[in-house]
Amino acid sequence: MQKDEIYDITIIGGGPIGLFAGFYAGLRKAKTKIIESLPELGGQLNTLYPEKYIYDIPGFQKIKAGDLIKNLIKQLEPMKPTICLEEKVLSLTKDENNIFTLTTNKGTHQTLAVIIAAGNGAFEPRRLSVEGAEKHENKGISYFIRDMNRFKDKVVGIAGGGDSAVDWALMLEPIAKEVHLIHRRPQFRAHEHSVELLHDSSVHVLTPLVIESLDEDENGKLVGVTLKDVKSKEEHSLPLDHLIINYGFASSIDPINTWDLTFTRNNIVVHSDMSTSIAGVYAIGDINTYNGKVELIATGFGEAPTAVNNALHFIHPEQRVQPMHSSSLCE
Ligand SMILES: Cc1cc2nc3c(=O)[nH]c(=O)nc-3n(C[C@H](O)[C@H](O)[C@H](O)COP(=O)(O)OP(=O)(O)OC[C@H]3O[C@@H](n4cnc5c(N)ncnc54)[C@H](O)[C@@H]3O)c2cc1C
Repeated sequence: MQKDEIYDITIIGGGPIGLFAGFYAGLRKAKTKIIESLPELGGQLNTLYPEKYIYDIPGFQKIKAGDLIKNLIKQLEPMKPTICLEEKVLSLTKDENNIFTLTTNKGTHQTLAVIIAAGNGAFEPRRLSVEGAEKHENKGISYFIRDMNRFKDKVVGIAGGGDSAVDWALMLEPIAKEVHLIHRRPQFRAHEHSVELLHDSSVHVLTPLVIESLDEDENGKLVGVTLKDVKSKEEHSLPLDHLIINYGFASSIDPINTWDLTFTRNNIVVHSDMSTSIAGVYAIGDINTYNGKVELIATGFGEAPTAVNNALHFIHPEQRVQPMHSSSLCE
């Protein structure tokens, strides 16, 4: 990352509202960057309910949350924004030249205006809380699957009982040597159809069991887990090459709530132009609040162009806030 590259607009959060703001900023020819703490774009829709239908998106009778995100990414792509994944924005400062510096866990980003589209805060996977789990992260233990071929001919354990755990077990079944699905309850919370497929598959369903400890070889490499039966308390070892944890996600507004902005509970108070108490910083989507605010995707979609156009007017006061319509801009 080049520290001296100054963007016009940097958007914190790659959920639906950040994605649409990124598209609209590109349409207005702003040099745009999106920073997202997760390895994937999509916010709550991809993380919490990708398979659920949404019925109140204008122009769609109904659309699956995951498909809406795919469409938003497709719409964004021609604008070629810079997208930084797996970067959590930790602090925001402004220098004497009115240039903002955003500091993340990976470095710094400079920008002339900031749009905060951080929803309920940065998502993080719920981690396995057994001794030594941290040191195996991204080696023997994964929270995200980027390349399924990594598990080719391996013995894989998947921990979790929701849709994601069951779907990954079914997807890895034809690739891995063995797949073991470990869940603390006998019932799975996944779709009935997926559970039926699971029981007809070669996936070894291990319930009601919890991971009690990690088994390592003499070099400290993960070679398996010790499982404990929730009822009988009996323990047994399960040799594994790889462990995938699917315990869902938690979000936290921290540390944005420590920034020098005006908050009502965990929401940033904005004016009708989406500006915050710091000139040049705007907030849109679930994270903002104003009189009459309704937390809906459709509402955030409307707030995005308002924030972008006002941010550009802030950067270039000679430019009008009201832009040309996209039907004229794209001709
Ligand atoms: C089960 C469920 C069903 C729903 N159904 C509907 C529906 O039918 N219709 C509807 O309109 N709404 C629905 N909603 C609400 C809708 O999902 C939200 O209004 C929408 O996701 C808000 O989008 P957003 O982009 O503001 O925030 P989010 O979707 O929360 O995205 C914010 C993104 O910002 C990232 N982020 C946060 N902090 C940082 C940081 N410091 N650094 C980097 N990245 C950061 C997060 O990781 C996240 O990816 C539903 C919500 C749930 C949970």
